[in-house]
Amino acid sequence: MSYQAPLRDMQFVLYELLKCDEVLPALPGFEDASREIMDAIINEGARLTQNVIEPTNTPGDREGCHYDPQTKTVATPQGFKDAYKQFAEGGWTGMSAPVEFGGQGMPHLLNTVAEEMMCSANLSLGMYPGLTHGAVNALLGYGTNEQKDYYLPKLISGEWSGTMCLTEPQCGTDLGLIRTKAEPQADGSYAVSGTKIWITGGEHDLTDNIVHLVLAKLPDAPKGSKGISLFLVPKFLDDGSRNTAFCGGLEHKMGIKGSATCVMNFEEARGWLIGEPNKGLQAMFVMMNSARIMVGIQGLGIGEAAYQVSLSFAKDRLQSRSLSGPKEPEKAADPIIVHPDVRRMLLRQKATIEGCRALAYYTVMQLDISLHSEDAEARERADDMVQLLTPVVKAFLTDEGFFCANDGLQLMGGSGFTQDWPLEQFVRDARITRIYEGTNGIQALDLVGRKLGMNGGRSVKRFFAMLQRYMEENPGAPFVTEVKDASSKLQSATMWLMQQGMADGEQAGAAATPYLRLFALTAVAFFWSRMALLAQQQLEAGTTETDFYQAKIHSGQFFVSRILPQASSLLAEIESGKDNLMAMTEAQF
Ligand SMILES: Cc1cc2nc3c(=O)[nH]c(=O)nc-3n(C[C@H](O)[C@H](O)[C@H](O)COP(=O)(O)OP(=O)(O)OC[C@H]3O[C@@H](n4cnc5c(N)ncnc54)[C@H](O)[C@@H]3O)c2cc1C
Repeated sequence: MSYQAPLRDMQFVLYELLKCDEVLPALPGFEDASREIMDAIINEGARLTQNVIEPTNTPGDREGCHYDPQTKTVATPQGFKDAYKQFAEGGWTGMSAPVEFGGQGMPHLLNTVAEEMMCSANLSLGMYPGLTHGAVNALLGYGTNEQKDYYLPKLISGEWSGTMCLTEPQCGTDLGLIRTKAEPQADGSYAVSGTKIWITGGEHDLTDNIVHLVLAKLPDAPKGSKGISLFLVPKFLDDGSRNTAFCGGLEHKMGIKGSATCVMNFEEARGWLIGEPNKGLQAMFVMMNSARIMVGIQGLGIGEAAYQVSLSFAKDRLQSRSLSGPKEPEKAADPIIVHPDVRRMLLRQKATIEGCRALAYYTVMQLDISLHSEDAEARERADDMVQLLTPVVKAFLTDEGFFCANDGLQLMGGSGFTQDWPLEQFVRDARITRIYEGTNGIQALDLVGRKLGMNGGRSVKRFFAMLQRYMEENPGAPFVTEVKDASSKLQSATMWLMQQGMADGEQAGAAATPYLRLFALTAVAFFWSRMALLAQQQLEAGTTETDFYQAKIHSGQFFVSRILPQASSLLAEIESGKDNLMAMTEAQF
């Protein structure tokens, strides 16, 4: 069974829940983002991902990338080049990039829908343009006019690709430890020297040039993260000569085998400063914030792909009889979808994926509002939501994407474990999304350590106010009682963090991961209540799509009955404090 873009579910979130066809065209620059145009683009994206991208997924996993030590080049799996070419020629690499640099100037929300389809169809291939997107954002924010004019059109058209070079052997999460150096040269450029590891798309054969964005230290840089600068180091210089930035080898890894994960050696490579000296982290965060949401979407995309395969298997596979009597007596056994435990796994996937899609699309629409609204107050409100929800989207969607793939595999029994089905690849591919772009533990620390306290707690207060307003305006909506209960637990957890975590960083660190999950469950329950209310209204109005809307109510019911109750144990875990983690000495482990 091959991937079918979940167009109806996407439309439900876009137009019925978020009303993006009213909100976005009212923003300057997005006048053309009508439903008609958006639907046409999404349909075309579905066609491309289903017919061109997805067929490269399993072969790409089997073949992997090839490194040639003589030429220090990397060949991507067969078929990737052609699929990427069609992707770039279709304008997908520049969907939300500014028109002045050759982009389509469409909302980020539309790009996110395309990213979801791409990640369902082939996560490895989607990584190449995904990283380029981050490089474009960093240049837009911090590049000089000259740099923008030279690099952006090629990156946006997909002729060139971008990388993010942060990690070094001794430096992962703690970027203050980097050793790569940049020596100023007489002509205003820098000689960049050092080794970066695990660089996605560091070398490959999809594009004519690769533009590396590299974190490095100037000779007189202050110690730690305050002394990091960002440099642009192209593979080929503007005179066509080869720069001394070479791939030293490929990582052998568990999943995303079609994505080239490279060791990169910079040997006095020519580079140019992006932004101000020693302010590289600031520019890198611009890349990372958009990349973090994108990684969340990777989790969503893989989860959706896994759900589709396991659902079709559950309808076909005949084993045992239904506990309430045979459902298909003429056959040797009933399809396994009759069994409650199989339904538990299916609904866990369906309810989380659809809830996560609502949360993610909402966050990205806030990003569009924060960048385009004419009203300063509206921009600020939207930006508060984006800042707050970015780590939640990254961590929760990737955790859940992996769990969905895992549930899908479990549902399929031994078949799921074999290479006859794509589930084992989905599980392997999904696993990395919880690690890169800042591990999910680090996302949780970002939420409790930075985002909760930002602007005197304004963002989180606004989040609670949004929930409160909804509950007051819709007291009879489905699941309002459950949302109220989860919201009050989240408020208790937030108060606990304010009281304990401010004074003692270890208390905040001990609470961070369960807090992020409690936050995400509450937010998703809120969206399920809203989606079920819309479904109820449609059913009352006599819609012909009864199955579609009834399924929304059933899925929401599953979420609040079987997943949301975790809120109680998460609150207990948070309030248990740090001692149960920190009291044990290292020797006692
Ligand atoms: C396939 C792949 C692709 C990648 N692509 C890129 C890329 O394109 N560019 C790039 O620069 N990097 C890339 N990376 C690196 C990736 O971003 C890092 O692996 C990740 O940020 C974690 O760093 P680390 O592996 O060094 O783990 P470490 O930093 O060593 O962390 C190990 C563990 O300790 C925890 N930890 C660390 N510090 C803290 C703390 N303060 N509090 C609590 N827990 C902590 C972490 O959560 C983790 O569980 C890639 C990695 C892989 C595997």
